[in-house]
Amino acid sequence: MGAIRVYKGLYARVDDAKCVGCGRCAKECPASVITLEARHEE
Ligand code: SF4
Repeated sequence: MGAIRVYKGLYARVDDAKCVGCGRCAKECPASVITLEARHEE
């Protein structure tokens, strides 16, 4: 979906506008370092 961008292989950032909260990244992360949190509407 293109919501995650990895910068120089050092860290990743999620684009809130593109993320649909499906949780696939958390399920498939081999290091289990991704967690989902409820989105807080502003
Ligand atoms: S929750 Fe889904 S849409 Fe959001 S970053 Fe993870 S895989 Fe992509």
